[in-house]
Amino acid sequence: MAGSITATLLAQRNWRVLLLDRAPLPSPAVSTHFFGPTVLAFFAELGVLDRVRATGAPPLAHWHLHLGDNYYGGPMLPRATHPYNLCVRRETLDGILLHRAEAEPLVEVRDRCSVRALLREDGQVIGVAGAGWEEKARVIVGADGRGSLVAQQLGVRPEYDAGALRCTFHAYWRGVHPLPEPSLELWHDDGDVIQTGPCDGDQWVVMVSTPPERFEQLRADGGAGYERRLRAIPAMRARLRSAERISPVFAGKNLRNFHRPAAGPGWRLVGDALCHKDPLFGAGIADAIAAARVLAPTLDAALSGRTSWEESAAQYAQETETRIARRMRQGLEELTIRPPAPGQRAWIRSVLGHPGLAFELAEHCSHLFAALPADRQTFWQKAADTTAEVLGLPPAARLTPDEDTR
Ligand SMILES: Cc1cc2nc3c(=O)[nH]c(=O)nc-3n(C[C@H](O)[C@H](O)[C@H](O)COP(=O)(O)OP(=O)(O)OC[C@H]3O[C@@H](n4cnc5c(N)ncnc54)[C@H](O)[C@@H]3O)c2cc1C
Repeated sequence: MAGSITATLLAQRNWRVLLLDRAPLPSPAVSTHFFGPTVLAFFAELGVLDRVRATGAPPLAHWHLHLGDNYYGGPMLPRATHPYNLCVRRETLDGILLHRAEAEPLVEVRDRCSVRALLREDGQVIGVAGAGWEEKARVIVGADGRGSLVAQQLGVRPEYDAGALRCTFHAYWRGVHPLPEPSLELWHDDGDVIQTGPCDGDQWVVMVSTPPERFEQLRADGGAGYERRLRAIPAMRARLRSAERISPVFAGKNLRNFHRPAAGPGWRLVGDALCHKDPLFGAGIADAIAAARVLAPTLDAALSGRTSWEESAAQYAQETETRIARRMRQGLEELTIRPPAPGQRAWIRSVLGHPGLAFELAEHCSHLFAALPADRQTFWQKAADTTAEVLGLPPAARLTPDEDTR
């Protein structure tokens, strides 16, 4: 994914790119695949949005949040240019992005071609080598995922690593009972988060994110543990009543939250190789795009001699720190998912179950917000500001008590 996008953006600036991958392309990736307005806007720019839409993945223009035995549903970001999410299986999506790269005359793709070592000269990376072959280049871009061989060979260790907070299990299903509106669904149940929605190929992906200590329980009996977990939730059991699981259950463990240095002499990192985060962020695809979009102009400037290599590396490192790494560090705070205490559950049930109460409470939201500890106010205000900025929406509301009465 990060490799195809980077190759396309560099070729558009007239640079020859050799795109190497050890797998036959496109290959399935062990990943779910929800993405929203910023990714859709980029796909439109790249000229692939029509093909992505033609996969048949239904636009998910609604959220569905399920908490215990209550749920909330609402339309998604109505003011964004593309006000929906899509869920397109990675094999399908990566195929479209690969074809887009191949359509650039300056891109050459070689799959089934494993990179095993970096070539160096005077402390500078000058190429890559595999079994019986080597290739030289002015710059090597490691778009080789979270276990990046390029990073390993460089001896580049994460400069920030918060470890793994959760693990995941996901599988593909047919015949899940749909909601009236296709939605991106999030279910919170006893410390687990279930993310699900319909995707291309008339299938559904259903992912359970769970604390690491429950890994063995869900892995048990070749997928039966995962199914038992889902069916333990009555509303989910009803949705799956006539459904059939059509894939193995894919387990994701050791999903560390880290970022590595972005650039050095003769090399750059993009995508998960640069910054990997828990799937619950749902930001891997958007971040791969964000990094590639900074990488292409900063590399172009150095390759064409408009800036020095040092300057280009520093700019790439600084912009990816601001747009990707810092946001990930801030967002980690939000990932501490605790099941609500019984008192909180009663409130949640009342608010979700009685629109009148929700309406009345909304009139006093600013006062409720002002009652939060100062650090939580700062945190949520920042989260709202960042969301507005990332999605190109009007500035987020400033919640102060005065505004309640307007
Ligand atoms: C369970 C799970 C669910 C997720 N859900 C979402 C989601 O809903 N939304 C979202 O935006 N993100 C999600 N993500 C994150 C997303 O999958 C990643 O951020 C994204 O795949 C990163 O793309 P990439 O190109 O950097 O890495 P990858 O997709 O890992 O691609 C790396 C490529 O490098 C190749 N490679 C590796 N080593 C070598 C080598 N030595 N030589 C040659 N080729 C090599 C591999 O074959 C592979 O094709 C999820 C991740 C997981 C694990």
